[in-house]
Amino acid sequence: MDSKAKRSASEAIYLGIDVGGTKIQASLITQGGVVLSRHRCPTPRDGGAEDILKAIIAAADETMEEESVGRDQLTAVGIAIPGVVDPERGFVVVTPNMGLTGISVGSQLEEYFGVPVALGNDCNLGALGESWLGSARGTSSSIAILVGTGVGSGIVRKGKLWTGARESAGEIGHIVMQIGGPQCGCGNYGCLEALASRTAIERDIRQGVEAGRTTILSELLEGDLSLIRSSSLCRALEANDELVTEVMQGASEVLGYGFLTVRHLIDPEVIVLGGGVAEACSGFMLPIIERILDSDRLTGAREGGHVVLSALGDDAVVLGAAALAATKAGLSPFDPKYSVCPKYPQIGDTSFGTISIGKKTHEVDVLIRVDGKVKKRKKAAVKERHGTSHVVDVQELERVCRCGPEVVFIGSGHQGQMALNAEAELFLRQRRIRLEVAPTPKLAEVYNACTGRKAALIHVTC
Ligand SMILES: [Zn+2]
Repeated sequence: MDSKAKRSASEAIYLGIDVGGTKIQASLITQGGVVLSRHRCPTPRDGGAEDILKAIIAAADETMEEESVGRDQLTAVGIAIPGVVDPERGFVVVTPNMGLTGISVGSQLEEYFGVPVALGNDCNLGALGESWLGSARGTSSSIAILVGTGVGSGIVRKGKLWTGARESAGEIGHIVMQIGGPQCGCGNYGCLEALASRTAIERDIRQGVEAGRTTILSELLEGDLSLIRSSSLCRALEANDELVTEVMQGASEVLGYGFLTVRHLIDPEVIVLGGGVAEACSGFMLPIIERILDSDRLTGAREGGHVVLSALGDDAVVLGAAALAATKAGLSPFDPKYSVCPKYPQIGDTSFGTISIGKKTHEVDVLIRVDGKVKKRKKAAVKERHGTSHVVDVQELERVCRCGPEVVFIGSGHQGQMALNAEAELFLRQRRIRLEVAPTPKLAEVYNACTGRKAALIHVTC
């Protein structure tokens, strides 16, 4: 019975859909958490429910066509919605920034796909994704806090979302951090979101400029401060812009005290920090948040709830949607019975300048991804950045670590010359990804013996 269940699970295939305010992402995902495809299209602006449903179906059809997967091959579908949903009835209770309020998205899509459709809140599903395969992997409790246009979160306990009595738990953006503070989009005053979201940061920068302060952003954005993207905030911080630094310092402090509150309230094993603003500006924000958490005077609390960074980025939500779909189909990937690891090729002979992986021999540096695929290393680009190909940097690790490995193997060459720089080591630590470095001739043994979710970067010469 168990082996049969496992066989059907290992062949299961899910469609994960992230319906965002600006774009829709549809991905096909295996039981082992391999993202087979990523199709993105814009969310219809000012569209009604019908337009949005049409766009969801079009994105799904496109991604299935890319992979030649028919609707009859799907096991289940998971959909992430930016709002409050009723997962039992597959019903959208409210989407403040999108016209899906009151629509039975679940039953309409079930009719089209002919398989179970699971519905969840986008932040909740991002948290579920991180708990399955990202920075919260292997923990029994976690919270993911996403700082972007708004501030949202999701709480996961033992592979299940904590959604509250009315599916409204985890709305961390609306805990009040400043009594009588600025008004929030929800109507209340002084919410965390009204003080630390990108929307709040933009408002404070604009107010500073109106009061006569100067900022490099005026130059970067040619005077139009109506939309300030996270990447622009990051550039202004790098340029030591006084106004932006001051505003970001304030927002980071509010987040730090918010995180402190969360730690005292639910004592999670880890707190995952993600979202556009946090991903672009983590180098500035994380030390401020950590300093506040470390200053906790309550004995015992300081040891818990360490902050890590999102390991899955844009894929977190679709992976969480797939996990929810699998759970609805009775195949929860958190259940050891249905937990499947991607298939990996064996590393064979290595001699100076060559390496055999599976049935193929390669004569260049390679990486073996989480999905088991072998790719050429972009060595020329590394050489251009560092003057040598013996450096492994963050940019390269982002490619190697896509889709959340538990462990990254580095084959450091025949004389062990290749090594991670300090930022790259920090990148792995901040995402709880284990690092194993071995001289290339010894790598086969350690890589082949590892039964976990793994990736490798291998230097074939010195
Ligand atoms: Zn609010």
